[in-house]
Amino acid sequence: MEKDKIFEPVRQSYLPYGRQWIDEDDIEAVIEVLKGSYLTTGPYLAKFEQAVAEYVGAKYAVAFSNGTAALHGACFAAGIGNGDEVITTPMTFAASANCVIYQGGTPIFSDIDEKTYNIDPNKIEEKISDKTKAIIPVDFTGQPAELDGILKIAKKHNLVVIEDAAHALGAVYKGKKVGSISDMTMFSFHPVKHITTGEGGIITTNNREYYDKLLQFRSHGITREKDKLNEFHGPWYYEMQFLGYNYRMTDIQAALGTSQLKKVDKFVELRRKYVAMYNEAFKDIDEIITPFQHEDGQSSWHLYIIRLKLDKLTASRREIFEALQQQNIGVNVHYIPVHLQPYYQQLGYKKGICPNAEKLYEEMITLPLFPAMSEKDVHDVIKAVKRTIDYYKK
Ligand SMILES: *Cc1c(COP(=O)(O)O)cnc(C)c1O
Repeated sequence: MEKDKIFEPVRQSYLPYGRQWIDEDDIEAVIEVLKGSYLTTGPYLAKFEQAVAEYVGAKYAVAFSNGTAALHGACFAAGIGNGDEVITTPMTFAASANCVIYQGGTPIFSDIDEKTYNIDPNKIEEKISDKTKAIIPVDFTGQPAELDGILKIAKKHNLVVIEDAAHALGAVYKGKKVGSISDMTMFSFHPVKHITTGEGGIITTNNREYYDKLLQFRSHGITREKDKLNEFHGPWYYEMQFLGYNYRMTDIQAALGTSQLKKVDKFVELRRKYVAMYNEAFKDIDEIITPFQHEDGQSSWHLYIIRLKLDKLTASRREIFEALQQQNIGVNVHYIPVHLQPYYQQLGYKKGICPNAEKLYEEMITLPLFPAMSEKDVHDVIKAVKRTIDYYKK
């Protein structure tokens, strides 16, 4: 039975929660590669890596076929193997934890701070055992995790910090760009992220040893570098020295990425502007909580999440979500806590281990936010949210 339609759409077309912004420059950049000699492993890849490293202020960058592959590479470079434990947040996309399992390790979920929604540094230490090798904080929604606290714990316990900054290209933490702070930082170039290469990801690092391992891991574990070879049979000679993967990014993607990166500051600026409009419009609505921003960081705003005060509302999160959809507003939920996914439940992770994340999940809705949306789109979202909350408030 179809539910009663209470709300008329606020607009004709459905507004997605996020999408890419491709212009003529981007298209030209891709065409240039297609007309050239190398579609992959050519000159555009190194250019893109250099451009990203420069943008974030890191020494090195290694691009991958997607962000998940990049995280896998980082876990390999960090030396994570069978039986090792890695601490991460449950309030993230599954890839932040899956990458540990790819290496035979065990993700340990540590709860979020109820204000920032990022991993709570005060709860990390109690999760550390003699098997712990790394921490994977996530800059959730684009707000940098509390990196100083996390890096301090990591130093004390000799752990590697792999920052999942899939949401945080262009974000700043204590005056430094995200990507230059942790041992390794991952960015994703999926179309909903800040810039896109279709599929793509990258690790930035200041550590030469990680850099070398990442390069080799990305291409089957193969090297041709003379000083690394055990033997040398001739100019054709290469060695596969460990089991790597084919995780390479094509030059087509890299050229698109280089063109997109030129626009990242404009993209982030527009995201910040739309967020300011949302914050201003919602500030007096007592039934919702708008995103809290820690003074140490400047978010690059991948996501804008409202949290419902369900005790002040007559409807459930689901009803409010569906009411917004009815009005042609592309809402979403980020994320179902990773440990509640059936795969993780089968592995034995219990409901209740991260109460803050589990409670947030019940109350959150992601509103549309992307640079290619217009101010009119933002006003449509505001209108629909206000109308819906007004209708359902107690
Ligand atoms: C998008 C995303 C990833 C994975 O990136 P892909 O490029 O889609 O593989 C990892 N972690 C988080 C938090 C993400 O949002």
